[in-house]
Amino acid sequence: MLPVPDEGCRWEVNRKRIHSPAVTLSLCRPEINSDELISVDLVPALEVHSQGCWPLAVCNGPDVDKWLGKKVRLEIKSLPCYLIPKRLKGRNLSEDAKESWRISFSHVEKQIIRSHGNKKTCCESKATKCCRKQCLMLLKSLIEGLKQRFPNELDHLCSYHGKTAFLHTLSIRFDDSMWACQELPACFLNLLRNLQFHVRTGLLPHFFVPDYNLFSAAVFPKKTLAFLFNALEEQRREGLPLLKPPAPLPLLRLMSPSGDNTSQISSDQSSILTAVCSLDTAFVNKLVLVFAVAVVCILLRMQVMGN
Ligand SMILES: [Zn+2]
Repeated sequence: MLPVPDEGCRWEVNRKRIHSPAVTLSLCRPEINSDELISVDLVPALEVHSQGCWPLAVCNGPDVDKWLGKKVRLEIKSLPCYLIPKRLKGRNLSEDAKESWRISFSHVEKQIIRSHGNKKTCCESKATKCCRKQCLMLLKSLIEGLKQRFPNELDHLCSYHGKTAFLHTLSIRFDDSMWACQELPACFLNLLRNLQFHVRTGLLPHFFVPDYNLFSAAVFPKKTLAFLFNALEEQRREGLPLLKPPAPLPLLRLMSPSGDNTSQISSDQSSILTAVCSLDTAFVNKLVLVFAVAVVCILLRMQVMGN
């Protein structure tokens, strides 16, 4: 049972969306008819302890031998996997298809992205820092930006397509030296090229379920794929405008009547560098959000302990 900050509050279960595995809970204060104070998405899952034997479709484990090593692959396979109720999209589903489950690897993905180095020392100190995580965040920002710009045309696109292309790229470009921090622009463009390759060929195997193609026509319309390819081409050609920070405020220009270019921010900087600035802003926003959630959690906990 989730705690509430005081007796005037209560959690309400929102109506579940049919294709989403998540259940959304809203914290409300009914006596003053307030809107929801906070909402939390929960994904119920069945934990399956398989003792090194995952379901048949994923029994080999992910292709990480060259990148993380065979030992890590076996360690990964010894972890439990999770089954999540997720109805397939489409009409005229059979009764069986309506009761479909999805195998979730989000816990494994989190772990291999956290300890992502070919050598154990990657990102342990400043000297060994790599740019893998920045590349993933840039790709996620780009996908988010594309979806905001073309919400209807790219409805089928999601950040998981980017994450999958990223994981494939990590397993091919496995050596830590290929991801040196100062190589961020080149590494990101390489990742983008890889994603475009998957889009052009219509083939993006799931990283853990290699026989499942995330870009197969059954789950990702060919029309959307063609649109996405053109949108990515346009971004590359025009210097990734979706990753640029917003235009500087007019005030900044007024402060420089002498035409001193040093205060005119960024319009002629390389796109990748500005992309990193943009990422920083997004990152700071996320940090603020995480901090706010942490404060709420602490307040809730203190309240419970007080009772
Ligand atoms: Zn690293």
